Amino acid sequence: MRALCWHGVNDLRVDTVEDPTILNPHDAILRVTMSTTCGSDLHFINGYIPMMRSGDIIGHEFMGEIIETGPQVTKLKKGDRVVVSSFIACNKCWYCEQKLYSLCDNTNPNWAMQEPLFGYATGGIYGYTHAFGGYAGAHATYVRVPFADTNCFIVPEGVSDEQAVFLSDAVPTGYMGADFCNLRGGETVVVWGCGGVGLMAQKSAFLLGAERVIAIDRFPERLELARTKVGAETIDYEKSDDILETLKEMTGGRGPDACIDAVGMEAHGTGIGYKYDRVKQALHLVSDRAQALREAILACRKGGTVAVLGVYGITDKFPMGALMNKGLTLRTAQQHGQAYVPRLMEHVSRGELDPSILATHHFSLEAAPRGYEMFKKKKDGCIRAVFAP
Ligand SMILES: [Zn+2]
Ligand SMILES: [Zn+2]
Repeated sequence: MRALCWHGVNDLRVDTVEDPTILNPHDAILRVTMSTTCGSDLHFINGYIPMMRSGDIIGHEFMGEIIETGPQVTKLKKGDRVVVSSFIACNKCWYCEQKLYSLCDNTNPNWAMQEPLFGYATGGIYGYTHAFGGYAGAHATYVRVPFADTNCFIVPEGVSDEQAVFLSDAVPTGYMGADFCNLRGGETVVVWGCGGVGLMAQKSAFLLGAERVIAIDRFPERLELARTKVGAETIDYEKSDDILETLKEMTGGRGPDACIDAVGMEAHGTGIGYKYDRVKQALHLVSDRAQALREAILACRKGGTVAVLGVYGITDKFPMGALMNKGLTLRTAQQHGQAYVPRLMEHVSRGELDPSILATHHFSLEAAPRGYEMFKKKKDGCIRAVFAP
């Protein structure tokens, strides 16, 4: 089959590789019909996350058609059209029982690579370094899906591929961020980032009862989407002298009730903190540029909630004093998609949520390296590039 492989920093190629086979009775083999880029892929494409090996197939957000099932798969059959959660869950372990699916204890065979950094290992994810399980990714003709009954979700007729593919990761991640904010109705939520996850977090905040959503980014096309497709108020941080002051003014001096960081470790910014991070990251002294996270913590009202959806490694200049003294609640996770996909599928079916706004650019699998280039440089208003093998 054909697959998009990582060969080094900024070196992606489409290669001919071996087809996947059923390895475990709970596996299914999927013919991929659509997959999409993700901002978190850029961290290892740019070389900020190690533990990739030359030839690794990348891609973790995808959907397709079941073409083969292992003998213990009971809920799925050949021909089913499904979307697959990016994090792989077993549905048997203590964490899966608590619905903390991305923390599954059984799906990361390379746990020993994560423990020195995290203390305990997370679950596995497709195409996302050996520390996260070393699973073959989904920018490919076929992919093996472990514990298929738990990780595949049937896509009903009337939901398009361009809508369904984002239920793999971008939509549930954004929704989880809004869910973490414990909204009761009437709140103001600020979201740093108007990429796929950021836009879905903004939309989800409205679905869960926020009265106002304020979106922050620096790309005019993204801010436009946040305004027109989501109904958010927007701030271009490159045009704002002082983002914290702007947010204070917009919220009557009290600050937002909840702040969501949908940017992560490769944040851009304008201030001295950003320049400091940039130099340290370039020198590999520390892995993260945490401008968005710092702002979210400082901007949040006293007693509010900060949800972190952006990916981080090791962060310094972390404003622990603000977090502690203001009594903030910090909520984070890689997405627990299996907990959210069924209700999100209903929102999409009913027309209350349209993730297809993210599919701004279409490519064949053969053109995937070009798709990533466009996505990375955010050329031509690219939010997400989608690939159809
Ligand atoms: Zn992703
Ligand atoms: Zn589990």
